[in-house]
Amino acid sequence: MAANYYDLLGVSKGATDDEIKKAYRKMAHKYHPDKSGGDEAKFKEINQAYQVLSDKSKRQQYDQFGQTFDGGSGSGQQSGAQGFGGFDFSGFQGFGGQEGGFEFGGDGYDDIFSNIFGGGGGSRGRRQAQGSDIHVDMEIDYFEMVKGVEKVLNLYKRVHCDRCDGSGGEPGAGQKTCPTCHGSGKIETVRRSFFGSFSQVSECHDCHGVGRIYEKKCSKCGGDGRVKEEQKLEIKIPAGISDGQTISVGGQGEAGERGARAGDLLVTIHVAPHKKFKRKGLDILSMEQVPFSVAALGGKVEIETLGGSLILKIPTGTQSGEIFRIKGSGVPELGGRNVGNHLVTVTVKVPKSLSREQKNIIEKMRDQGI
Ligand SMILES: [Zn+2]
Ligand SMILES: [Zn+2]
Repeated sequence: MAANYYDLLGVSKGATDDEIKKAYRKMAHKYHPDKSGGDEAKFKEINQAYQVLSDKSKRQQYDQFGQTFDGGSGSGQQSGAQGFGGFDFSGFQGFGGQEGGFEFGGDGYDDIFSNIFGGGGGSRGRRQAQGSDIHVDMEIDYFEMVKGVEKVLNLYKRVHCDRCDGSGGEPGAGQKTCPTCHGSGKIETVRRSFFGSFSQVSECHDCHGVGRIYEKKCSKCGGDGRVKEEQKLEIKIPAGISDGQTISVGGQGEAGERGARAGDLLVTIHVAPHKKFKRKGLDILSMEQVPFSVAALGGKVEIETLGGSLILKIPTGTQSGEIFRIKGSGVPELGGRNVGNHLVTVTVKVPKSLSREQKNIIEKMRDQGI
């Protein structure tokens, strides 16, 4: 590999684009082959260095991997790969398996590309395996929606191991240097790709980046720091919640590996439809039938609300479709102070069958033009 590009241009690794440009001009001027004392080989190297360092993405790649690809040359074979004769490339799709001849079929290309530029990352710190969120659905009815309710959930989930207190080590067991990574917490692998071979540093899977392991793993959790258990959990569903809303209970998801942060419990509420009531904003809507005579003469009818049945006064001459408002019998505002109303739409019930006497009365009304 050529000399360090930064050294070639005589700039620091943190040099700005402007500094790189200036340095390049100076060096190119100095080594230009047409000049006396010029140096063609050096001039070429300087140009190569500038081509990489003046291109943002190429420079980034160079900083990360110490080399770049030349657009489409395809050879990309770097000296490093030779030392790894028996290296297993099976993780990559699209490598035909032949020496040097890389085949890129469809998806394989993307995989490799993202492997190189995605999170191959060597300098990343220890990544704790945080517990996953648990998502559950819960159904409540209209009455529970208006009043709020507490429900008990049975969850079978990973919980903090009490034997090792989440550490994963058998109580009393000592620690030793991880034999896999020899204490560095990192494992280096070399990956071959279209662009050459790349050294990738990843977290040691045995010590999870710590560099030390317990001499004996916890006998209860096997070193994971958590165990699967059934847990009862009381969930408070606040009054006024809407269908489809999700309640998040922090830290009640799966426990994290070896004491890492637990996930959250997410409970999505479904309000079961009710045959009589509907919700519109904070209001509850319902329909009530009123006998023809009560609508005509006025009177009282018993109606249902979510707070129980109550007596609704019907004024004389009430028409079908009139709406009566029962103040404060709707849905309380979630986290607020407002309460909706119950709106009752009245329909006048016309009798389907009549006795002779009733017929006579109504016939009289008809004759009077009512
Ligand atoms: Zn344990
Ligand atoms: Zn290790």
